[in-house]
Amino acid sequence: MSSIYCRDIRNIRGIGEKRAQALGKLGVFSLFDLISYFPRRYEDRSRLKPIALVQNGETVCIQAVCAEEPRLSRIRRGLDIVRFRAFDDTAQVSITFFNQPYVRNQIHRGDSFRFFGKMEVRGSLHSLTNPVFESESVPFSSTGTIVPVYRLRAGLQQRFLRQSIRLGLDACRDDIPDLLPEGIRLAYGLMDAARAYEAVHFPEDLASLAQARRRFVFEELFLLSCALGMRRQKSREGILLPMPDFSVFYDSLPFRPTDAQLRAVREAASDLSSGCQMNRLLQGDVGSGKTLVAAALVWQCRQAGCLALMMAPTQILAQQHYQTLSALLEPLGVRVGLLTGAMKAKEKREVQTQLDSGALDLLIGTHALLCEGLHYPGLALTITDEQHRFGVDQRAKLATSEESADKSRSFLPGEGLSPHVYVMSATPIPRTLALIIYGDLDVSILDELPPGRQAVDTFCVDSRYRVRLLAFIRKLCAEGRQVFVVCPKVEEEEFSESVVSAEGPDLSPASAVEEAERLRRELPELQIACIHGRMKPVEKDAVMQAVLNGNTDVLVSTTVIEVGVDVPNASLMIIENAERFGLSQLHQLRGRVGRGSHKSYCVLVTDSDSDDARSRMKIMCGTTDGFRIAEEDLRLRGPGDFFGARQHGLPEMHVADLGADTETLMCAKQAADRLLLEDPGLLRDEHAVLHRRVKMMTEKWNGTLN
Ligand code: ADP
Ligand code: MG
Repeated sequence: MSSIYCRDIRNIRGIGEKRAQALGKLGVFSLFDLISYFPRRYEDRSRLKPIALVQNGETVCIQAVCAEEPRLSRIRRGLDIVRFRAFDDTAQVSITFFNQPYVRNQIHRGDSFRFFGKMEVRGSLHSLTNPVFESESVPFSSTGTIVPVYRLRAGLQQRFLRQSIRLGLDACRDDIPDLLPEGIRLAYGLMDAARAYEAVHFPEDLASLAQARRRFVFEELFLLSCALGMRRQKSREGILLPMPDFSVFYDSLPFRPTDAQLRAVREAASDLSSGCQMNRLLQGDVGSGKTLVAAALVWQCRQAGCLALMMAPTQILAQQHYQTLSALLEPLGVRVGLLTGAMKAKEKREVQTQLDSGALDLLIGTHALLCEGLHYPGLALTITDEQHRFGVDQRAKLATSEESADKSRSFLPGEGLSPHVYVMSATPIPRTLALIIYGDLDVSILDELPPGRQAVDTFCVDSRYRVRLLAFIRKLCAEGRQVFVVCPKVEEEEFSESVVSAEGPDLSPASAVEEAERLRRELPELQIACIHGRMKPVEKDAVMQAVLNGNTDVLVSTTVIEVGVDVPNASLMIIENAERFGLSQLHQLRGRVGRGSHKSYCVLVTDSDSDDARSRMKIMCGTTDGFRIAEEDLRLRGPGDFFGARQHGLPEMHVADLGADTETLMCAKQAADRLLLEDPGLLRDEHAVLHRRVKMMTEKWNGTLN
């Protein structure tokens, strides 16, 4: 018998070419895909409610007897109505179906049915429109039980999916391979695969559903941990960059590194000098001083006569790194270059010439670094800033040598060894989640801010405070400070190609442009500038330069300044329509101020009084701890939004609600690590299913990388 991974869904009764195609669009091709197509949610129709107790707008399941023959009336061409009354012991309900004339043949006077739908109550009149209905005897019950609701595509219906999955499950009843080794299953008290698949699609009660769900959450995280763990095991030979005497570097700095910075440098530097390839993540809250750590590593690289690359997600940031790192490193003899997508072909060729002749030690750029067909002789270290902005795919490109088909795109170090990879992220990720998301990386953490930083005072106001806010802006600018104003897009609008391209999606600039104009009228004595993602790179550079030089008092922007911009003189961040931002984004934005020694403020402006918005504002006003905020964010939004699959580049999580399942997450990770210690290649017979599934996952993954 062929395995359920290969058996085509067209072998299932009722699935023909057309539906198979529709299912294919959902990623369902094999029998295994079908039974793994989990419900998006469930409706609890297991409890029947007496009609009289149902409230207006409530979605319920009732059981009622049809009081009369349904009447069909044709209101006009294309609009049929079937209507009848039904009742239970407590009340009567009027039931209406639009454009389902066949209902008349299915429901007759005196029949008892369960109806599921949203009840409208006006006085003593109850009515249901287009309810789901069923008599008790139907086989694929969609009322009177806990009913799975699947994500659909055109050409598919809930009932069809339920039925197909039923047949699918029956077809492989004794044949569902369990990837979890029995020992692990028992140790963590998890349901076996066959029962879990049954319960996730056809739950008998909420308890068994919860158990099934727990098993799949565990399974998913376990698989991911195994896959990442196996990646990490493959520690490859790396370019040896001897440990330098860092005191030379530290002595040249204008300030003393924090202990956290010293530790982070030590960790990475010993990787670099180990002879194995480094794959390390530096996690540090905004303003924790990641750039300095990067500079130290670049210096180490240069001491060995090798080239380092640094990739930033935006032009602005690349430019800024260029300035900061030149200032830090050029006095030490490190030659720094800049390459951006905006440069002319001729300029790029010049950079290549410099690279070829060994005239550069560090090249900074946007991901133009990856795309311009450049090659990098002597490359030993790649640093990616604000890693969360790039996907795993780009990270993989940075680390690639022999795997890349297109050699010109990869970074080939002289001796054919892969360069070291260092990624830096300011998105605080709850530690547990980081273990999974970055399971293939070693992690350093900057958990300390440079001294002298004051917490940013955060307030939440509504738009009536505008006058007072203007006065506040005036006051701070009179003291010589600078102000950021961030505006989200106001209207839903498709991202245009040009905007999405180089710098990631930017919000519609309209609101920022308008706000800047308004402020120019209201504060004519101040220099007000505006920056957004649709401006040309040279224009952006000019605006940012004016901000850094102190020539601009107020910078109004879309979220382009979210990542990394460092203007220590800025002491007020105003976020308009703050309710439109997620917590982590608000935290990032707030991190743009409070970077110098000046007392700094963040004002969240919102007129929203939704509970959700309120709780976000409250958290923001209550803490500046990025990790706490990240945890709250995860809790409020769930991981799907927290890390869009596109952002972290990992396979989409189907079941795991990483926020709520920290416990399960830790268990799964622990179990995977232990197992890989015993059987690193998952080569034992009893791990065959697991091995196969890990391979499937990795393949899917590699598929999404291209
Ligand atoms: P981030 O981690 O957000 O990238 P940066 O590297 O931009 O942070 O550093 C933020 C600011 O703190 C910069 O102005 C930098 O010069 C300053 N800084 C970094 N390290 C220290 C330190 N040890 N002491 C004082 N200031 C520091
Ligand atoms: Mg930074």
